[in-house]
Amino acid sequence: MRVGIIGAGASGMMAAVAAAEHGAQVTVIEKNDRVGKKILATGNGKCNLTNRDFNMEKYYCAHKEKLQYIFETFDVVHTLDFFEKRGLMIRDKNGYIYPYSEQAAVVLDFWRRLLCEKNINVQCGSPVLFSDYHEDKKCFIVKTAEQKYEFDKLIIACGSPASLKNGDGLSGYALAEKYGHSIGKIVPALVQLKSDEKFIKAMAGVRCQAKIMLCLNGREEATEQGEVQFTDYGISGIPVFQISRMASYAIEKKRDVNVIIDLFPDYADDEFAKMVRFRYENMKNVRLEDFLNGTVNKKINLALIKEYGYKPDDVISKIGYNAITELMQGYRGLRVHITGTNGMANAQVCAGGVKFDEINTNMESVMIPGLFFAGEVVDVDGICGGYNLQWAWTSGYVAGKSAAN
Ligand SMILES: Cc1cc2nc3c(=O)[nH]c(=O)nc-3n(C[C@H](O)[C@H](O)[C@H](O)COP(=O)(O)OP(=O)(O)OC[C@H]3O[C@@H](n4cnc5c(N)ncnc54)[C@H](O)[C@@H]3O)c2cc1C
Repeated sequence: MRVGIIGAGASGMMAAVAAAEHGAQVTVIEKNDRVGKKILATGNGKCNLTNRDFNMEKYYCAHKEKLQYIFETFDVVHTLDFFEKRGLMIRDKNGYIYPYSEQAAVVLDFWRRLLCEKNINVQCGSPVLFSDYHEDKKCFIVKTAEQKYEFDKLIIACGSPASLKNGDGLSGYALAEKYGHSIGKIVPALVQLKSDEKFIKAMAGVRCQAKIMLCLNGREEATEQGEVQFTDYGISGIPVFQISRMASYAIEKKRDVNVIIDLFPDYADDEFAKMVRFRYENMKNVRLEDFLNGTVNKKINLALIKEYGYKPDDVISKIGYNAITELMQGYRGLRVHITGTNGMANAQVCAGGVKFDEINTNMESVMIPGLFFAGEVVDVDGICGGYNLQWAWTSGYVAGKSAAN
């Protein structure tokens, strides 16, 4: 069985090894001059391979039952077993799984060794420009600028435009469309949010613990908690990434998007009120800047003093208890109007892609037998935390094994 794979990212390499281990003669065609480039950037260079806290809530997909069935075929336990049996030791950090070395480069070397050991024909520096099914020959024709290939089965594992510049990364969708597949709207999914609020710019560089709430047309839609980063373009950090997919689609639909930030996420309302009263009683005669010093980051305090129309030298007793309470409540409900997301080049993954209802549980096209898909090119995406690579491993394994059979 000749299996061709377009794309040597996480999913394509997994598909290649799975197909070879199930007896296929495998060729992987990669546009870049080397395989698995994106893996090097994952997990801040440490590669968050997967996550033990696993369920369908972590994924966005039109058919969760089908997705669950596919994951059960090759789940987190299978994945860890796959890595460990073939030589990659793993490190478990509260369920977040990394290579033991905490080096993405080690993961890439692991894959390069496997591709070599399994005698997989890897053609790098060769963008696939054309692919079609040849009815007479009963095979898939794949063309690069220099070569023409014939395969019995074909796996499209071209990834997405996330993290790529110049509109790169779209060719997988074009190849799928050529076979009659439809593509769900592509938007950046794990990405920073932009805002033109002046106080956000003044806080640029600050990272702090916060609870954030996404509001669309005034309705609360999602909450996240963790380290938020303020930047000169807006807000970033893992909690922001987790709500960014919903924000992306809302911005596309021209909805009013706001993020409400609570800078005291670990305080219950009554505790917070007590804390404000306590500070007020003990610091009636101090300047506002000094009153706020000792709470959150200095830069936040200075920005919010200005935002609320005060001066650093204003004395607390003159401002009065009610106004101080109001100001401090503002720290718990800081409204940030979102004007957009950063572009594809800054996103970690995309939402959208080859429609999942056109793919069966073997990752095979329901229209073109013998044509398979794997990874981010498909309209499935996960939240931050190893879930997108898990999708690449699972869909790659299932596609590779099914194509070989
Ligand atoms: C900065 C960053 C950090 C991330 N961190 C994590 C993390 O820690 N954990 C996690 O789970 N996920 C993480 N992700 C997401 C994860 O990396 C991706 O979801 C995953 O790599 C997708 O794998 P893939 O095989 O589908 O696509 P890719 O890895 O993008 O591979 C697709 C391959 O296809 C090739 N290709 C495309 N078109 C053609 C063509 N026409 N001809 C030939 N080749 C082609 C591309 O060059 C590419 O090598 C991160 C992403 C980024 C950008």
